[in-house]
Amino acid sequence: MNDKLRKRTSTYQEPQKVKRLGQYPFFRPIESEQGTEVTIDGHQVLMFGSNSYLGLTNHPKVMEASAAAIKKYGTGCAGSRFLNGTLDLHVELENRLAKFLNKEAVLVYTTGFQVNLGVIPCLTTKEDTIILDEFDHASIIEGSRLSFARKLKFRHNDMDALEKKLQMCDDSQLKLIVVDGVFSMEGDIANLPEIVRLANKYGATIMTDCAHAIGVLGKNGAGTSSHFGLDNEVDLIGGTFSKSLASIGGFVASDADTINYLKHHSRALIFSASMPASTVASVLAVLDLLESDDSLIAKLWENTHHAHRLFRDYGIDIGKTETPIIPIYVRNFMKTFELTTELFKAGLFVNPVIPPAVGPEDTMIRFSLMASHSKEQIDIAVEKIYNTMKKLGIETLQDKNMAA
Ligand code: PMP
Repeated sequence: MNDKLRKRTSTYQEPQKVKRLGQYPFFRPIESEQGTEVTIDGHQVLMFGSNSYLGLTNHPKVMEASAAAIKKYGTGCAGSRFLNGTLDLHVELENRLAKFLNKEAVLVYTTGFQVNLGVIPCLTTKEDTIILDEFDHASIIEGSRLSFARKLKFRHNDMDALEKKLQMCDDSQLKLIVVDGVFSMEGDIANLPEIVRLANKYGATIMTDCAHAIGVLGKNGAGTSSHFGLDNEVDLIGGTFSKSLASIGGFVASDADTINYLKHHSRALIFSASMPASTVASVLAVLDLLESDDSLIAKLWENTHHAHRLFRDYGIDIGKTETPIIPIYVRNFMKTFELTTELFKAGLFVNPVIPPAVGPEDTMIRFSLMASHSKEQIDIAVEKIYNTMKKLGIETLQDKNMAA
């Protein structure tokens, strides 16, 4: 092997250190169906680490639609949307989503990550500026890196900071503000009304990434702009099928001209194979469920309010979350791993979040809810988290207040 590569990869020992401590929490293979309980290494645990907010990954109608599509179309498309990889199902999904999102047109990509890689650099040139929230998802950062435009970052959800960045731009420039609709680790919602006001004042374009807002916020789960009644004011809505929509793939919704431009210029679309029929069909089946029955979203919000109340009653620091994504701030790198390991032993699957996903001072456990969780499961989980934090000497807000 080449020496330079060996030097780079063999000196990377961080995972081994955590493995030696028996605290390695990544790549845990799940051996069962993905409900509120899963089996890992023969051990049954409650799942509080999934993004399947509506709990639909094993819904019979969704699985049947997926299986039927495989029977009709086969397993893969063997080409990109641009050439041989467009099925009538892709077009049907795009039309359905355009109506669902109240936009003129939609383009589906093979993942949500590719949406940001494909859209942001495609619409911006070196004459332009991209303005990002500091907590934007990694795929937005990567998409921006691929662009020749100038990039500016503002403090998380701080509208004065955003305005200062807008003041650094020329009138003539395209200024693309890109924010998560719901922030993926912190669980708070972008301040879209204020972003829209500032975008209008300074002539900026807005793109929201509604990966965590679809199926959660807005009419039938149509996302953050629907939640605020601002569909017309947001120029581009991006999102994924890999969370509430129980599949894989992504989309961007906008006006017809912008979608037409992307269809003919977006490299992550044109040079990558399209979503297989089974995944497209499963998303269509979830849309049927969402449009015919709001009880799932209502149940998700009941669970969310219940869990927020419980965590806050226990004095656990869950930041400013407003959604089913609940950050449990540990603010200590090794204790975050310890807590994850101890919770796993106690029968809970949660995700540790460490740099670069968050800053070094913000390490946390990311606890996420599904509509399919029962209140009892949530009660058990929160109590276990509180007891384990106490056992490991992790301070709750109450402890900090008492110490102050
Ligand atoms: N955007 C955001 C805000 C996300 O959280 C994610 C996934 N974590 C993505 C995009 C990427 O989506 P996908 O899983 O479809 O690649």
